Amino acid sequence: MRIITLDIDGVANSLRYAESLPKGLTFNTKNPSIERAAGNLDPLAVARLGRLAKESGASFVLSSYWRYRWETPEESVQKVKEVFQTFGVDLPLIGYTPMAGDPDSLIMVPQTRENEILEYLRQNDVSHLAILDDDGQMGVLRHWLVQTDWQYGLQDEHIEEVLATLQRPGPKV
Ligand SMILES: [Mg+2]
Repeated sequence: MRIITLDIDGVANSLRYAESLPKGLTFNTKNPSIERAAGNLDPLAVARLGRLAKESGASFVLSSYWRYRWETPEESVQKVKEVFQTFGVDLPLIGYTPMAGDPDSLIMVPQTRENEILEYLRQNDVSHLAILDDDGQMGVLRHWLVQTDWQYGLQDEHIEEVLATLQRPGPKV
């Protein structure tokens, strides 16, 4: 299975995008409407993710804090798909990484995301991997990380980087 793990904040949105909005981003809303959640995503970055899905043929797995935005991670995956559909993008989002962090705390323990992705790799048959995240703390998984910049979010060059990363074998866990 070819997998792209997807962070949302800093990938599908950015500081530059937040600054273009009259009210900025609304991160702290639990159970947001699809419309409100979509307002937190940069349409250009979402379109790039749609292109990446088509060009890579890979499936996406949600590794983002957005797993906590609705009542359950399963519901969050479904909602994120619906949010992307409002932009006309059918994202092949097939699941989520296990959650080791504290859902009630915005402060994430360092290496949490690395460990969550490692756990997903142990539980699933992943032959090829790319990690899309603006956080660089990926430890043993750093060779599969395509790191975006929170200031700008997902750019065209990241798509090329993900496609190249998916050409290499994934990590052995
Ligand atoms: Mg992020």
